[in-house]
Amino acid sequence: MDIDAAREVARRAVERRDLPLLGQNPNVTYRMGIMGGTFDPIHNGHLVAAEQAFDDLNLDVVVFMPAGSPAFKQNKRVTMGEDRYAMTLLATSDNPHFLASRFEVDREGITYTAETLELLSLAYPPNVELYFITGADAIAEVVTWRDAEKIARLAHLVGATRPGYDLAHARNAIMASGLDFDVTYLEVPALAISSSYLRERVTAGQSLRYLTPDAVTGYIHKHHLYGVRPRRYGSTELHD
Ligand code: ATP
Ligand code: MG
Repeated sequence: MDIDAAREVARRAVERRDLPLLGQNPNVTYRMGIMGGTFDPIHNGHLVAAEQAFDDLNLDVVVFMPAGSPAFKQNKRVTMGEDRYAMTLLATSDNPHFLASRFEVDREGITYTAETLELLSLAYPPNVELYFITGADAIAEVVTWRDAEKIARLAHLVGATRPGYDLAHARNAIMASGLDFDVTYLEVPALAISSSYLRERVTAGQSLRYLTPDAVTGYIHKHHLYGVRPRRYGSTELHD
């Protein structure tokens, strides 16, 4: 995609509020957080990490971007983008500085982080800085992602870690890559939560309360995601 086309795509996304309006004042530096992920489903770990990144790094906004067709999950079953986006929208809707975006879901083919960051950096003026937020376990892998050097050039990285998590692995991987990544590590408490854990719980008929917003749980039941077959709306009962 050429530069003008990329700008046009992003301009339209801003217009329909799918991307934040940022960068208007050239004398101000704006900081945009990007939380990428499969969000299958989104959970409180994602939300807490994003909120903490917002606070600690003085971000102006955090954009949650469910991946269209995630590069790493090509051989796994992933819930369709429309559902993952809807759950992300529900989970972020009451937070004024969170935004759920269709930017990746609507893109054809496999979504690569480097390409997303490139489109965003073309779309916004240089006084908008990009902060890509990820779990610290993923940080060690970023160096292996496609066009890692582009990621390093276009964005700051924010690695959310559990208290006591040993950062040596991530630090070594980054150092060994020889790439110039700017990483800030954040300690985020209570972060053993994962989407896989939630999916397993749903399938086993167990509660998701306090693991993800109730609106997300409601959506999962209403649309029978993850193998749940509720007798009535909101129930966690399984039947054959
Ligand atoms: P799965 O269990 O299916 O792998 P997940 O919980 O890891 O799902 P993803 O959508 O894969 O969720 O993750 C999106 C991003 O959020 C990734 O960068 C991941 O490292 C990060 N992340 C996931 N869970 C947490 C958590 N509990 N705390 C902080 N970051 C998290
Ligand atoms: Mg994961």
